[in-house]
Amino acid sequence: MRYQVNKKGYYGNFGGAFIPEMLVPNVEELRNHYLKIISSKGFQKELGSLLRNYAGRPTPLYFAKRLSERYKAKIFLKREDLLHTGAHKINNTLGQILVAKKLGKTRIIAETGAGQHGVATATVCALMGLECIVYMGEVDIERQAPNVARMKMLGAKVIPAKSGSRTLKDATNEAIRDWINNPVDTHYIIGSVVGPHPYPDMVARFQSVISKEIKKELKSKFKKENPDYVIACVGGGSNAAGAFYHFLDNKKVKLIAVEAAGKGIHSGHSAATMVLGKPGIIHGSKTLLMQTDDGQITEPYSISAGLDYPGVGPVHAHLFKTGRAKFVSATDEEALKAAYLLAKLEGIIPALESAHALAYLEKLKAKKNEIVVVNLSGRGDKDMATYINKME
Ligand SMILES: *Cc1c(COP(=O)(O)O)cnc(C)c1O
Repeated sequence: MRYQVNKKGYYGNFGGAFIPEMLVPNVEELRNHYLKIISSKGFQKELGSLLRNYAGRPTPLYFAKRLSERYKAKIFLKREDLLHTGAHKINNTLGQILVAKKLGKTRIIAETGAGQHGVATATVCALMGLECIVYMGEVDIERQAPNVARMKMLGAKVIPAKSGSRTLKDATNEAIRDWINNPVDTHYIIGSVVGPHPYPDMVARFQSVISKEIKKELKSKFKKENPDYVIACVGGGSNAAGAFYHFLDNKKVKLIAVEAAGKGIHSGHSAATMVLGKPGIIHGSKTLLMQTDDGQITEPYSISAGLDYPGVGPVHAHLFKTGRAKFVSATDEEALKAAYLLAKLEGIIPALESAHALAYLEKLKAKKNEIVVVNLSGRGDKDMATYINKME
């Protein structure tokens, strides 16, 4: 079985590029150049240097002793939470801004929901001196004021999306409209393994540094480069895609993707796409998504803004259908519990998204000597208001 994208941009039955005709030149330009650009020595050197000196890579693979005692397995945390801007998203925005520069682009656009990707994009634009426009739903702008302030301080222009539910989906539509109108000078930095080919593959490659480092670290520590389990949360699926990437072809490594079950999978307030989703097209690619019987996209819900996306990247739809990864879910309640537990046992406050991955440790029945890697995708500073609110 093949888990990487094929030449046509598909993972099994999922993926492709379902885009309006007016967007074809932009996407084609990227598709024709991205592999050559990324694989060049100069690019790798420049990106490697930025990841190391600016973003803070490699991130530690931390042995969580007290968590391991509790769950009776060898639990390691991949500390993406320690990166600049607080999450894995900077791996991708650094990669894409360099691609944009090689393509001669001078203007960057992005969409953002909670604002994490918007902040990571505004950051790399400031670093490179490029113009930055971030589309964000009007409702999200109100809910996520601190991230809006960050983006503005970094020099980005934040434009409210005022149509539909005025959230992420609508911001994405606005960004696409902008790109159609500015095909020559603009690059669109998508924030997860979603969108038309080649985005899912390009973003997965930029995030694959996560599994590359996990392998290297385990090899030097244990002379065994493969863990028994890798666990990651899935919104669009970029941190999971990166944490799984170099293990996909080794079936002995069990891959576990944790979605947000919100108030319960069948409560009507959830983002558990794999259980609830059916094949459909969203933002340019064919994948599994939550929709009504006549194909209208259902509004997703999760306590963590980074996970409430109605679809998942096509690679995950494929990993689900082939059974290569196991898809499970955690409710708001379970994620909150896991976050408090990590804070008390290890002195680390995780992002609410990452807390969903941690929550699965309650259900995982690993053996005592088995190595379990949990990808800690981000830190919890941005979620303090929610944590304080829910504290007993
Ligand atoms: C955005 C975000 C996610 C969800 O995005 P993926 O593309 O699924 O990784 C997860 N964790 C954190 C900390 C985030 O900021």
